[in-house]
Amino acid sequence: MRLIRFGDRGNEEPGVLLADGRRVDASAEFLDYDEGFFAMGGLEALAEWVADGCPGGAELAPEVRLGPPVARPPKLVCVGKNYLDHAKELGEGIPTEPTLFMKATSAWSGPYDEVMIPRGATKLDYEVELAVVIGRTTADVDEREALARVAGYATFCDFSERAFQKDMGGQWTKGKSADTFAPMGPWLVTADEVPDPQGLRLWCKVNGEVRQNSWTGDMMHPVRRLVSYISRFMTLLPGDVIATGTPGGVAMGMTPPRYLQAGDLVECGVEGLGELSQRVVAYRCPNPSTF
Ligand code: ZN
Repeated sequence: MRLIRFGDRGNEEPGVLLADGRRVDASAEFLDYDEGFFAMGGLEALAEWVADGCPGGAELAPEVRLGPPVARPPKLVCVGKNYLDHAKELGEGIPTEPTLFMKATSAWSGPYDEVMIPRGATKLDYEVELAVVIGRTTADVDEREALARVAGYATFCDFSERAFQKDMGGQWTKGKSADTFAPMGPWLVTADEVPDPQGLRLWCKVNGEVRQNSWTGDMMHPVRRLVSYISRFMTLLPGDVIATGTPGGVAMGMTPPRYLQAGDLVECGVEGLGELSQRVVAYRCPNPSTF
């Protein structure tokens, strides 16, 4: 099953993308794809509704905006340096334990939304990643049970402002958390349709040029280990998102670095999960009504 959310930013409604390509409004039956939805068996109810032919669900107009396929998550946990070639290009050594950091959930953004250069930023970078959405409350889970806690997978871009992240001291959060820095989608593919999350190609193109081209089998810590590992340190809630790290090829790793500029087009994809498309735009003051 492919879950979508549609409508204006901050007011998205739930829907589904059917196997025949039709996009159907599910808001008559479901409130949103949020913590409560996943916790209360929403995925099973949605599958039944789809199997019944989506009663009461109208087809969406082609021009309707898609938002991120799940509601703004309770937590957005990211994994740093999880691909060897990326860890090497950063030149900071190879970690033996998974490197964890948090990204502000206010960065949550839709699959085709613009990415905005933050005020004072000079080193905007892209990172294509496989995102994991948690389906059930998960604390200290064994690696062998971990994948059963996953609701689904989606393409994610961990946009990063390297000057804030690396040149201004302190911890990574301030370089990772600007508005629009966390686009996900275009849909959530349920876990039953992704039998092996370590067998997927992933790529990132900037203005059509392939910058990152790898596969998830190159993760140093696979998804099952990440879910288990993270759940040792914090309880993962239904709807939480884990961004599993990026392969080599980011702008910062190039000589000289090739950071993003206003007008650039960034396209990130993961095999079978669809492709994101972000146009880079200059800073403008955020509109609080859209959060
Ligand atoms: Zn990342």
